[in-house]
Amino acid sequence: MKDINVININSTNFYLLKCKEGYLLIDAGWVGKYNNFKKALSRLNISIDSIKFILITHHHHDHTALVQDIRKETKCKIILHKYETGYIEKGITCINETRQFNIYLRLLDRVLSPFIKYDYTPIALNESDIIINNGHYNIYDLTGIKGEIFHTPGHSKGSISLLLSNGDAFVGDVAMNILKVFGHKYRPVEAEDYSEIYKSWEKLIQYGARNIYPSHGHKFSVDELRKCLSEERKFI
Ligand SMILES: [Zn+2]
Repeated sequence: MKDINVININSTNFYLLKCKEGYLLIDAGWVGKYNNFKKALSRLNISIDSIKFILITHHHHDHTALVQDIRKETKCKIILHKYETGYIEKGITCINETRQFNIYLRLLDRVLSPFIKYDYTPIALNESDIIINNGHYNIYDLTGIKGEIFHTPGHSKGSISLLLSNGDAFVGDVAMNILKVFGHKYRPVEAEDYSEIYKSWEKLIQYGARNIYPSHGHKFSVDELRKCLSEERKFI
């Protein structure tokens, strides 16, 4: 049995990590894709009931839209940052402050955005859920997984990452490995604050990240973030 399983829907990765008595799922999104998600889960031989936790890296629809459906079928707990709670409880993707990295990505966004459903089924939080603040949160006692959750803002104010003790880092949209032809390299294609993105990368590097598992694109080495950061500093 693999330690890291992945489901990909519409170019978004949803990772499943073995935890005590089941799985911790990292994100579950895209409006109307619940059947695709369940089919992919059964191909992996994982039952929906075995999902014990869903870690929401941030509130955007492509990471959250299926969470309430999964919640109805399981008694899973939700883990997310306090800054994202207001959005997920309303089922909205807030992109007022989000901007694309460059002109090419802005144009691409203008073409694609009319076809995207940004609003999703609101997620009802309850007292068993785990709300993360700005510090570290060690998940070992809760899940049996050796790792810590960090606040890694920049893409959204309440974005979080999970860093395992072996250096595997699940970073949501704090870094991406897609559309590099458009010049942003491993930066997210869009973000609320790129300077916060770089600080979040520094935090991941400082705390020992080795392999970056983004929500969009394949995993890559943390050295790529280091290279990108040193290029960035040349312009400061
Ligand atoms: Zn996002």
